[in-house]
Amino acid sequence: MAALITISNLKKAYGSFKVLHGIDLDIAQGEVVCVIGPSGSGKSTLIRCINHLEAFDAESEITVDGIPVKPGRALAKVRAEVGMVFQSFNLFPHMTVLRNVMLAPMRVRHAKTADAEKHARNLLQRVGISEQADKYPGQLSGGQQQRVAIARALAMEPKVLLFDEPTSALDPEMVGEVLDVMKKLAGTGVTMVIVTHEMGFARQVADRVIFMDGGNIIEAGPPTQIFDQPVETRTKSFLHAVL
Ligand code: ADP
Ligand code: MG
Repeated sequence: MAALITISNLKKAYGSFKVLHGIDLDIAQGEVVCVIGPSGSGKSTLIRCINHLEAFDAESEITVDGIPVKPGRALAKVRAEVGMVFQSFNLFPHMTVLRNVMLAPMRVRHAKTADAEKHARNLLQRVGISEQADKYPGQLSGGQQQRVAIARALAMEPKVLLFDEPTSALDPEMVGEVLDVMKKLAGTGVTMVIVTHEMGFARQVADRVIFMDGGNIIEAGPPTQIFDQPVETRTKSFLHAVL
């Protein structure tokens, strides 16, 4: 299958500190990829490079749907195709839930208010919070806010959804409701790249699990291979520590 995302020789440094050492990774249309690994291994940096939230070395190359990811006019096109969900929700606190979800289609796509509202209400229903539409983010639980953030990301009908530890800031009792929404999304055709510490979820949902350490991909494969038959010592010791 043709790759929707191609990453080749991805290098990234903060000053003289090298964070990514030349990552090669292709992700297929509709594929669900979970990225695991210890804190500081470069997981967030990797996925933030995909929509150029982080700049990267000039010799590195990323494409999304054939579009080169680099500063310039084409970047808006890439960002319209790539939705992102963060650990800390990042909703606009002064806007209602409904407005949060309507905003990007209206601003970026110039959608009509009535159309944007209809679409937003559908999405809120899809993530199970249609009754919260007129509340403000601060009036919602963390799990509800993260589901709004997912609806907001979906509003632009992205081909790719990036998730950076979407459940790490949640109280334990709310993790399940967010993972359930993500499970429903997986398999709908949207390509998902998910940084997560939820190993049970990764095992269940991922087509491919990528283990990173020290700014490199150490090992990648189907969940059964990575979780049940890891080959690399670093993968084994990481899994031993977290499972
Ligand atoms: P992970 O998501 O796997 O925990 P990150 O991608 O956030 O790892 O970070 C990888 C490395 O880059 C870490 O050592 C981190 O301290 C460093 N780093 C991340 N962001 C910055 C930044 N803005 N400035 C300097 N160093 C950073
Ligand atoms: Mg991170």
